[in-house]
Amino acid sequence: MQPKERVLSFEAALSVVEQHAATVRPPDTETIALDASSSRILAELIAADRDVPPFPRAMRDGYAIRASDLANLPASLKVLGEIKAGGDPSALHVEPGQAVSIMTGAPAPVGADSVVMVEHTSSAGDVVEVAKGVASGDNIVPTGAEARRGDSLLAPGTRIDEAVIAVAASVGKARIQAYVRPKVAILSTGDELVGIGDIPGPNQIRNSNSHSLAAQVRKAGGEPAILPIAPDEKTRLRSLIEEGLQSDLLLLSGGVSVGRYDFVEQVLEDLGAEFFFTGALIQPGRPVVFGRVRETYFFGLPGNPVSTMVTFELFASPILEALSGATPRPLRFLHAKLKTAITRKPGLKRFLPATLSGEFENAEVELTPWQGSGDLASTARANCYIVVAADREHFAAGEWAPVLLR
Ligand code: AMP
Ligand code: MG
Repeated sequence: MQPKERVLSFEAALSVVEQHAATVRPPDTETIALDASSSRILAELIAADRDVPPFPRAMRDGYAIRASDLANLPASLKVLGEIKAGGDPSALHVEPGQAVSIMTGAPAPVGADSVVMVEHTSSAGDVVEVAKGVASGDNIVPTGAEARRGDSLLAPGTRIDEAVIAVAASVGKARIQAYVRPKVAILSTGDELVGIGDIPGPNQIRNSNSHSLAAQVRKAGGEPAILPIAPDEKTRLRSLIEEGLQSDLLLLSGGVSVGRYDFVEQVLEDLGAEFFFTGALIQPGRPVVFGRVRETYFFGLPGNPVSTMVTFELFASPILEALSGATPRPLRFLHAKLKTAITRKPGLKRFLPATLSGEFENAEVELTPWQGSGDLASTARANCYIVVAADREHFAAGEWAPVLLR
């Protein structure tokens, strides 16, 4: 039996997805090497193991001085000695009229309240002449200014990137707790499909969706498992869907439109699925389906390759990120100036493959010429999607339009 139709606006569909994402329990954790953790999700709280910085740190090469000594310029100060990065300042104590030569990253000596940059000084023997004043505190980061020992630096759910790795390394975490990556079954359906290693017959095409989806799954933090291609025939389709439901998430491609051989929804209905929506008012990707069989969420993504990619990005990735233990993040978008006008019939929110160019202050975007949601090569040449609201008929050239990054 076909499930009851439930077509939502883009916003309503996304909010349904986000509500479910919020209820997902975080996965198990495992210990991994920090250097192998890039793009994984942090599963522990990382705290400062000591004050940061652990000593008053000089931010410049120059002279550690007392700012009050520079009231009248130029000022001549007696140089007591030198402290380099890693050096011990304990033997040096800066009194009025004195200075200590200091390097970036070195601990400031007692008595000095600031560092004057070497560029503003000239030295002769043990005397330095300073040509420019500083305020007390300039160019020294006080002990504990960035964090106190025990302060939380990173929360569980953080996606690990180079900046996160730098923090973990700085507190001595060579190994960290990460969430186990969720397993995502990928099931492409269609009698016309053959594997990428096979020679297609004259009326067949190669299965590209299983592979583009696997790449998107990996990018979003999941571990893809590509199932054999399902034919447009209920018995075999059902047994492959049952196999896919053993994973943490099932992604189907194709077979969710209104064609006579689109059996995906019927088979899922027969398996007792709940359907949260069976379509969204978007283009490409209108027939997208979201539901759950027992504990396992599934998405029925339309088979048109660009529709598959866009609907994964919009709807499947928030659920996958939740299953990965990641804190939800907003869609990545920006605004750019349209190079040419766009006119579309209202009623659908559109995500149109486009090319972004220009500079920071003057980002420009242009539709990529394409032959519709099957046109893979022009989609690969695009690097973003122009987003056209459902109630918007016309954008003039030169107008700023929202752009979703890929
Ligand atoms: P469907 O959603 O099953 O109606 O398929 C829509 C269009 O996408 C048809 O032209 C299919 O041949 C094509 N298509 C479906 N699945 C795939 C796939 N896995 N790889 C490439 N193209 C596909
Ligand atoms: Mg099909």
